Amino acid sequence: MATENSSPPAPKPSLSSAVKVRKTPVKAGPLPEVPEVKVITPMGWMHTARFLTTAAELFHLPALDVPEIAFVGRSNAGKSTCINTLTQQKQLAFASKKPGRTQHINLFSLGKQGVTDAVLADLPGYGYAAVPKQDKLRWQKVMANYLVTRENLKGIVLLCDPRLGMTELDEVLLEVIRPRVEEGLNFLVLLTKSDKLTRSEGAKALSIAKLQAGGGQAKLFSALKKQGVEDLAQLMWDWTHVPEPDGTHD
Ligand code: GDP
Repeated sequence: MATENSSPPAPKPSLSSAVKVRKTPVKAGPLPEVPEVKVITPMGWMHTARFLTTAAELFHLPALDVPEIAFVGRSNAGKSTCINTLTQQKQLAFASKKPGRTQHINLFSLGKQGVTDAVLADLPGYGYAAVPKQDKLRWQKVMANYLVTRENLKGIVLLCDPRLGMTELDEVLLEVIRPRVEEGLNFLVLLTKSDKLTRSEGAKALSIAKLQAGGGQAKLFSALKKQGVEDLAQLMWDWTHVPEPDGTHD
């Protein structure tokens, strides 16, 4: 038990007592130069998107040596909304809907100005009823040729409204790209408008899409609820920046 004349308790160690106090004043001088390190996140990288070019024919597309990711899907699947949400630019992909450009391949550059390190290709939506049959057939050919022959193509995102599921034209496209996917081309089935599905409907649609994707992946996405946006940006970054398993990085 403590008594009145017991010695006072030892002072508790405080942070200030652990810090040596410098006696000599320091003259203020210029701070040493610290190299600026700019860390770009996949989302920040996506926001650098800007219009590069548009082409009505395959041979009009510039040959590029940076990785390219193609966005494809039937018209009304939510492709323009997805690209605009991903790049946080209201009008970028809607440029593809301007009269005269609806049947063009539109390219968008990614990366800081002057250092494009990847390209997004917005392919025309297919299956739009009002397009004359001849134009539809011509476009299916251009698109198939692009998907099969584009050398710098690093991945394909197929957008699909899960309430409709894969349409006949989606299936045709899957068949066209299957050999490249089997050879290792990145492939994602993106189930759009997921805000319209209950949790269990979403899970069911996802497992069906995973089977349909063959060697590819499937994800849920909602522009309205911002579901899956960061995840998609990260995947696009990984497809275009993570070295190949054999150590090459093209
Ligand atoms: P595109 O023809 O594939 O480019 O499709 P759009 O981006 O124009 O979208 C077609 C329709 O779907 C439009 O009415 C959009 O507002 C709607 N839409 C797109 N994304 C979403 C979403 O995430 N949620 C909901 N509820 N509607 C969406």
